[in-house]
Amino acid sequence: MPERTEQMTAPEGEEASGSIAYQIGDALYLNITNACTLVCEFCPKTQGDWVVKGHYLDLDRNPSFDEVVAAIGDPEPYREVVFCGLGEPTLRFDMLKQVARWLKERGAVVRLNTDGLASLVHGRDVLPELAGLIDVVSVSLNAQNEELYNHHCQPNRAGAYDACKDFIREAGEHIPEVVATALEGLPGIDIDECQRIAEEELGARMRRRFYGRVG
Ligand code: SF4
Repeated sequence: MPERTEQMTAPEGEEASGSIAYQIGDALYLNITNACTLVCEFCPKTQGDWVVKGHYLDLDRNPSFDEVVAAIGDPEPYREVVFCGLGEPTLRFDMLKQVARWLKERGAVVRLNTDGLASLVHGRDVLPELAGLIDVVSVSLNAQNEELYNHHCQPNRAGAYDACKDFIREAGEHIPEVVATALEGLPGIDIDECQRIAEEELGARMRRRFYGRVG
């Protein structure tokens, strides 16, 4: 997710509904839902802050496929297009696949930033359905054990931590690049152990992020 700002409400003059597509650097980010399976204490949304890098992301409803595509316009100029808002994109799994397919038909590099809980939530292994649609998946591992994960992320389903690890472990069979992330500086988090788990147990690359920054 992009870097947060201190602003807590919509910037003056912006519409009440948040941005569906927003550019940061040379990447375009897609915000397709407000919904989450987790309530992460470190997430700006949990503190009521819906503005990241000057983009107001509080959606008043889930956008349709046509609205998402219209918000993207031409994907060609962007280095990558990333499913990532202040919500979990895989909770709109059919829409996610539909938009990803549209993007791949236009030659875009597509990344999915996710909590890694889609298979748990949808009750089936969803990873094969992402083959050919997603080039890079970035999964929030968040912690080195279930106790800390539950403490910081408050999942609304049992078994979330193990499901997230399974998702990371198996993602590489269907998606070319798999990255696990965790926040350095978050209380109790052993970032070196997170990296060891990601690399040695799950076969993923580790990307360290920093507590207080989203991005
Ligand atoms: S899953 Fe992502 S968007 Fe949802 S609460 Fe956690 S950090 Fe925020």
